[in-house]
Amino acid sequence: MKQIAAALLCLAASVILAVTLSGRTQAPLLPPPAQLSDEPVPPPTADGAQTVTLLTEEGVIELALNEYLEGVVAAEMPASFAPEALKAQAVAARTYTLWKAASGTARHPRAQLCTDPGCCQAYRTPEASADLWGDMAGEYGAKIAAAVAETDGLVLRYDGRLAQAVFHSSSAGYTQSAVAVWGTDVPYLRSVTSSEDALTVPNYYTEVTFSAEELRGILTAAWPAVKLTGEPEEWFTDLTRSAGGSVASVTVGGVAVTGAQLRSVLGLRSASFTVETAPDAVTFHVTGYGHGVGMSQYGADLLARSGMDFRQILCWYYTGVTVEG
Ligand SMILES: [Zn+2]
Repeated sequence: MKQIAAALLCLAASVILAVTLSGRTQAPLLPPPAQLSDEPVPPPTADGAQTVTLLTEEGVIELALNEYLEGVVAAEMPASFAPEALKAQAVAARTYTLWKAASGTARHPRAQLCTDPGCCQAYRTPEASADLWGDMAGEYGAKIAAAVAETDGLVLRYDGRLAQAVFHSSSAGYTQSAVAVWGTDVPYLRSVTSSEDALTVPNYYTEVTFSAEELRGILTAAWPAVKLTGEPEEWFTDLTRSAGGSVASVTVGGVAVTGAQLRSVLGLRSASFTVETAPDAVTFHVTGYGHGVGMSQYGADLLARSGMDFRQILCWYYTGVTVEG
């Protein structure tokens, strides 16, 4: 039965709620908002009454929306997370799914979505999850099914339209605004605090070292106009940071690039990094994982463990949205 939820003004909830954060994911990246504008708005419908077509490695399959969402939540968030965090993930995934299903994509015209997290969302079959979870399969499967069922039909809207419910694994103290990362201002994708840290997130801090020669090859292949002469300490200049602390822009060998672009080219886990140079090497010290926009999954788990419910968690990360059927 479809849930009809009273719309909740999230900005108010975010301001009112003081939380103590302490907490933990590995999230794939979602495509940038260039593919995620506000159109269109399908009518609210219970999950079980809707189907999605999904491109898998075995071909295109059709499955009920609730079954699909269970596979998405299982793949996108650790099942050990708090129930309210899993519900927040279910609503974010449902919102994204309905937008994507209604919009279509030229990348797979015969299916509304695919299982590539770089294109759509990750998805894992019940059988694969059971194999992964082992002895915990019964408990975890029930938790995720409950997260989807107890949010049946609920989505995030802003001004009545489906929100761009992007999410990421972990942030470096603050989430990033959409405009800082993708150059597109989205009113509800603002930078907000997110208190996960190295105590609660595996591999929160990572570092990647390149030899000067290796790095020169990678950067000149990506940007042929880059001129990398002299020692590495001269290669990176004019580094600026967003309000959320990620690298906003940096000049690499005379070519201005964004932190997100450099992150992508170098395969860094996030754009929250510092650069340490040596005469023959460069080390990038990286914090968090993902693009940093929207809901932090580890942050969501902390908020849930501090007592927030899924609506409050969603309102924390998506400024001013409503949670409704
Ligand atoms: Zn896709």
